Amino acid sequence: MHEMSLTEGVVRILEQQAETHGFTRVKTVWLEIGELSTVIPESMEFCFDAVARGNPLTEGARLEIIRIPGTAWCMECSESVAVTSRIDLCPKCGGARLAVTTGEEMRIKEMEVE
Ligand SMILES: [Zn+2]
Repeated sequence: MHEMSLTEGVVRILEQQAETHGFTRVKTVWLEIGELSTVIPESMEFCFDAVARGNPLTEGARLEIIRIPGTAWCMECSESVAVTSRIDLCPKCGGARLAVTTGEEMRIKEMEVE
């Protein structure tokens, strides 16, 4: 399950942040996940609970997921359009010359620590 290794990656980032900024507990993590990414938010939540447990830094921490809608730049229309998958055609002109601009990312947006 690739969400498990992604979640471990998130916890590793939190550990590095804790070391740099000197906090000892993470209470909430807001994670942005693009709608075009293959990550399943429910799996992330499930894996996060499993990975966070037993780690003094993240024990009991909450994971809040923020979905980022997919957008792409259409080279035919020269404007930004909404897409729901990587293989979508432009909803305005039906063209295939789209460059995805948002929706593929996964990043920590914010965290509440003590
Ligand atoms: Zn277009």
